[in-house]
Amino acid sequence: MSLNEFQDNVTKGNIDNFSLTNMLDQIGYSNPKVRLMAKLIESQNSVSENSGEHNSKLNKLESLLKKMEAYNEKFKQENTVLKEHIKSITAWSNNVAAAVGACPECWGENDLCNTCHGQGLPGKFIPNKTLFTELCMPAVQYLYRQIERNNKTDEPIDKVD
Ligand SMILES: [Zn+2]
Repeated sequence: MSLNEFQDNVTKGNIDNFSLTNMLDQIGYSNPKVRLMAKLIESQNSVSENSGEHNSKLNKLESLLKKMEAYNEKFKQENTVLKEHIKSITAWSNNVAAAVGACPECWGENDLCNTCHGQGLPGKFIPNKTLFTELCMPAVQYLYRQIERNNKTDEPIDKVD
């Protein structure tokens, strides 16, 4: 095959794997120095292509890393907020447990609890009078008023005082 025929075949897409060494093979050019030069040129092109591909992958990884760092920062902030929320809820739970005399660890729901062995339902321990007055008494008073009201309305209509 002549050089022109080879060029024509490349243009028409008849040669899939275009390379300098492939071209030399196709045209039957066997000078070892030229073939060595062709291989060197191909290897440099390959390194250059790989370097470009490598940089592209590196840029994608850096971009991904920045996104992951942003997510990590966001999760850290959310974690801090959640820890504060849990601390607040735990404090409330401990206060209410003390107010009703329940186990602050499990409220009597865990047989393996080191504090009460599952026996710490409300009323098991001496209620904290101050906390009971503050947290429970308003609800007790409300229920008491409700019961009194119901007792009045439940009275038979024909009852005469
Ligand atoms: Zn307990």
